Amino acid sequence: MNDWKGFDFKTTNEAEGRDRVHEFLDKLLSELKATPGEILKAAKKKVQNPHCPVGGCRTKQPHIADATVMSVVHRFTGPDKCLRWVHASLCELRDSIAQDHEHQRYMCLITRLRQVEEVYFRTLYVLFLAPTDAIPHVLSGDPPNSFSGIYDEVNETILEGRGVLKGSGIGFGGFSPMDILNAGAHADYKTMQTVVWLHEASERPFDIEGYKKHINNYIIRIDHLRGLLEAGRDLDTAKQCIINMHTPIEEFSKLARKEP
Ligand SMILES: [Zn+2]
Repeated sequence: MNDWKGFDFKTTNEAEGRDRVHEFLDKLLSELKATPGEILKAAKKKVQNPHCPVGGCRTKQPHIADATVMSVVHRFTGPDKCLRWVHASLCELRDSIAQDHEHQRYMCLITRLRQVEEVYFRTLYVLFLAPTDAIPHVLSGDPPNSFSGIYDEVNETILEGRGVLKGSGIGFGGFSPMDILNAGAHADYKTMQTVVWLHEASERPFDIEGYKKHINNYIIRIDHLRGLLEAGRDLDTAKQCIINMHTPIEEFSKLARKEP
């Protein structure tokens, strides 16, 4: 079958076209001396990086060979699991955003919004969902480490699908909140347009108190987890605790009504 690249699939008859495709595949498989299952298996087999278990990671050395990553990993083994750092980071971001709002530095303000979510969700991921041997990779920040993928996993397991960042049609037009966060983090032209609109509406500046409360809720939850872990509670207990903290009170009421 040396001329397989020139195999003629063209036909106006659908059944005939299907037969020609099957004929082509049969010839190809016999030439490769492989079954369709073996071909699929070979296609799915990923080349494993010897330094890291995370698929697609291109590190050329173990992540902990980097002194900064090694320091973070070492810190992560401590009783607070880096949560004092996370707490301090969220407080700084909150205060910085509030100051930007006060001085109408809206570009700075919008570029911060994803950082708040990223710090919080990445923390829940590395604490409760990342496989142990993948933790150096996650802490390194090396790709693949996308916020979107991490958010999906945390949303499914910790928020039990109630997360709103990827929803649409709730006052955001065709954009999800995640789209807006990403646009802001990239400081793109749509973000500049938003900044212009915010300045044009400066005679009635938007209320930041609700947003500060949102960050404060993250801070309270992180601080609670830190308290549990520092007191010696295990990660499973802390995980159930954060799931409960993300469960609306109405859900508990429903469960209570179902109990005999
Ligand atoms: Zn890696």
